[in-house]
Amino acid sequence: MAEITRIKTRTPAPYPITAISVETHDTKTFRFALPENATLDMLPGDHLYVHATINGKAVKRPYTPSSLPGTVGYFDLTIKRYETGVVSKYVHERKVGDTLLMSGPNTGGHWVDGMAKKVGFVAGGTGITPMIPIIRWILIKRLDVELFLIFGNKTEADIIFREEWERAVREHPNFHCYHVLEQPPADWTMGLGRVTAAMLRARLPAPGPDTIIFLCGPPPMVEALEGTLKDLGYPEEAVILP
Ligand SMILES: Cc1cc2nc3c(=O)[nH]c(=O)nc-3n(C[C@H](O)[C@H](O)[C@H](O)COP(=O)(O)OP(=O)(O)OC[C@H]3O[C@@H](n4cnc5c(N)ncnc54)[C@H](O)[C@@H]3O)c2cc1C
Repeated sequence: MAEITRIKTRTPAPYPITAISVETHDTKTFRFALPENATLDMLPGDHLYVHATINGKAVKRPYTPSSLPGTVGYFDLTIKRYETGVVSKYVHERKVGDTLLMSGPNTGGHWVDGMAKKVGFVAGGTGITPMIPIIRWILIKRLDVELFLIFGNKTEADIIFREEWERAVREHPNFHCYHVLEQPPADWTMGLGRVTAAMLRARLPAPGPDTIIFLCGPPPMVEALEGTLKDLGYPEEAVILP
């Protein structure tokens, strides 16, 4: 078998888009080609930078590959389009065959096998993206780890990869998922409004030496919940912000 090349670049390199799939009304997954025997040199949760020159200005934004680390020949980015967002809008305007410039992967708040036995994930909107490869990795590798996802969104239509989370609940007894919606449908039975201290207490593993919590979402949510997690007794080093 040919040896696998692990890719990591400081300077932006072009990657062609080979497929685009629609995930929700504002979120798409873009697949990018890698050379045949190449994979990104990353751990689950690490990110790349997308670089572009938009209206004459050089800009870059971080994105976490949603594909499984170790995937050979391609990688995926799952990106939400913000109406007023410079780079997310630019990416959403690209078509299959276009290329995007990217550097990295860069080290973020990632998962390392063996780092915990109980892992909480508190995600708001696209804050789920760094958690996607981490959850997929732990479930696919069948690691002896219990996972607790709390996922906050505005409406049901905003839930990224909802079917995957529901399937994971059915197929993996070690995966627990609790959705919180600001604008729920009439028959909604899970969380209402925003993620609260009571929800964290009820749905996350209790603080302990084998417990870590990943927290990612809009900055006001992260700021508020970082304090809440501290108040609930999670030590600073147990809370990871990807
Ligand atoms: C480590 C890391 C990894 C990330 N991975 C992903 C990923 O995999 N997929 C993904 O879609 N995004 C991801 N993001 C967010 C991404 O980097 C950009 O911030 C996002 O795409 C918006 O960029 P923009 O240029 O379109 O918007 P900007 O021009 O920077 O912002 C315009 C407006 O968009 C809104 N906005 C921007 N970012 C957010 C946000 N995070 N939450 C709520 N409103 C926002 C605000 O109203 C803001 O005023 C990640 C961020 C970090 C720090």
